[in-house]
Amino acid sequence: MNNRNIDVHCHFFNAAFAFNELLEAGWRLLHGDYPYKSNELLKAKALAVTTRKVVGYVKYIASLLVTAARSPQANYDYEQDCYAKSQWHPSRPIITVPLMMDIFFAFDNGSRQQRKTRLETLPAAERKTAIAPASVSEREIPTFDEFAEKMKNMVIEEYKRQAARKSVARTYTPKSALPVVRELDRVIATFKAEAMPAVATKGLPSGGNVQMTRGYKKHLKELKALRKKNPDTVFPFLAVDPRRIGIEKLVRDQVVRGSFHGVKLYCPLGYLPSHPDLYPIYKLCIKHHIPVTAHTSPGGFPSQCSNIRTLSRKKDGTVVPVVFDKKTFEATHPVKKGEKAQSLFFANPENWTEVIESDGLDTLHINFAHFGGQEDIKKYAAGSADPTNWTARIIGLMNRFKHVYADISFCPDDDMLQAIDAIVSRHPIVEERLMFGTDFVMLMIDKIGLRNYFNQYTGIKPRMMTANPQAFLRYTQ
Ligand SMILES: [Zn+2]
Repeated sequence: MNNRNIDVHCHFFNAAFAFNELLEAGWRLLHGDYPYKSNELLKAKALAVTTRKVVGYVKYIASLLVTAARSPQANYDYEQDCYAKSQWHPSRPIITVPLMMDIFFAFDNGSRQQRKTRLETLPAAERKTAIAPASVSEREIPTFDEFAEKMKNMVIEEYKRQAARKSVARTYTPKSALPVVRELDRVIATFKAEAMPAVATKGLPSGGNVQMTRGYKKHLKELKALRKKNPDTVFPFLAVDPRRIGIEKLVRDQVVRGSFHGVKLYCPLGYLPSHPDLYPIYKLCIKHHIPVTAHTSPGGFPSQCSNIRTLSRKKDGTVVPVVFDKKTFEATHPVKKGEKAQSLFFANPENWTEVIESDGLDTLHINFAHFGGQEDIKKYAAGSADPTNWTARIIGLMNRFKHVYADISFCPDDDMLQAIDAIVSRHPIVEERLMFGTDFVMLMIDKIGLRNYFNQYTGIKPRMMTANPQAFLRYTQ
């Protein structure tokens, strides 16, 4: 009996999701409520939402508009269609593992959390005077309509620039910017409607203790619906960021008891896998056989902050402060084209050692997504002995731990199959642990298109599309 093939790494989110999260993050920044509402943590200074601050976010949204303007359902259908028409000539649909993304904390530099800790150590009387007044006066804060209009116009301008440059992703590029304007207007209108008190966040299975931002909540619901409709071919992963209040509860509701199959971490957004608040989640993952996928390439969409304060838990249980400073980092680590300093710092597979060497966590099922990134894979395949090579580090972890996996998503070069063969011939373990993945819809940005991606991987070792992902997902067909 033929097992179905599995794409262990894809995304079905779209530009509307990202724009929703930008509106929420930006609007909260303006009111001193970012990343938390004043009743969630102590209110800090309001911040001006400057063009410079949001420009990276705007570029990301525009790139999604160029390539991924479709609904999650349409993205799923599109993937099945590309697969069906590919040279794999499949007789049955592909199993997809759509990973959620949590970009809400992209502007968080950790100062809010630190400030809270500092204030909590002060006596109550002193605490009051220590809370600084807002740096943006009420009069300077624009109305929501003005703010949303400004964000929308920035996205449209950037969209036009990007759309003019692209020749790929023809299927998605709208003929004019009109559908884009309509789409953004729709997000703004829904955002406003949801802000009305009548539509509170009640009714969530997690109750009121979980911080649910609009884009996150909407995409979560969409993936649940998609899974319900396609229970045999959709296995969604919940996006986990340790800074989201109530995240452990959310994992219990949506993964342990709900329809999500695994957990997705995206450390370049400004936290380490050894963040203390992730440990209760790892324990849940071990107990309930939940797999974890972690972004492990030097690129991607990183934190928009250049100085980030966070925490790390060592394997002996001590918690230490960690500071990322972009300038200091770049002085000692060369950042090549296509790489991001934040990704190089936070997504380094080396950061996982403290986690998997911790008591009881050595059986965690982890997928190091992208296998360290295409450049490192190719260098390692060509014989590089660089000990800091991420692919080499991941293989080192595969050799030491039973449930360490990797996927080859977002590796579109046509010599990837040869590179994989070269690595497998030196490290047979890779044949048992490497998995096929596309990274659709992100793949559509600047890259070769989804059907071509399938074609490029025609002839990949069958177990990388079936047995390996089945073992990682603990799923039997
Ligand atoms: Zn991805």
